[in-house]
Amino acid sequence: MACPNCSQLLGQCNAMCCDQTTPIPVSTWRSRQSDIQRPLTNAVPLDRNYVMVLTGDRRCVFLKSDLSCAIYPESGETDSRSSECQNYGNESHILMTCPFQSASGGVRKRWDRRDILRKVTDEGHRVLSHMMTQSRVGHARVEK
Ligand code: SF4
Ligand code: SF4
Repeated sequence: MACPNCSQLLGQCNAMCCDQTTPIPVSTWRSRQSDIQRPLTNAVPLDRNYVMVLTGDRRCVFLKSDLSCAIYPESGETDSRSSECQNYGNESHILMTCPFQSASGGVRKRWDRRDILRKVTDEGHRVLSHMMTQSRVGHARVEK
């Protein structure tokens, strides 16, 4: 995540940005199987480069119980997360907008948060439904 104030806000947001709809690069999915944190129900190819991994609790398959990312790069390591993860919070799109803090790290007011959450939820449902329609759910799995 690109947001500067996540550690301060995690108690409130519960890392809501790290959900199962986050696209995962196929190369990462294949190489980071040992970092999986929870049972998955399906791995749906979105295109040749990305996969969406569905889980029982709807969280990202790489989200740890302490709300940190199991594939977050160590210093000097290449970042194998998707560009969405790397740039989340830059406000380039409503789905890249954190409801809890602005791109510069300012903590949002309650009304602003509520308004963004509503827009994110609406757009998230729309995009998820589109992705599920476009993919071959139930017919295709990305193998390890
Ligand atoms: S980017 Fe926003 S939702 Fe995600 S962990 Fe940081 S504060 Fe929470
Ligand atoms: S890969 Fe990491 S940063 Fe991206 S959604 Fe999953 S847990 Fe969050």
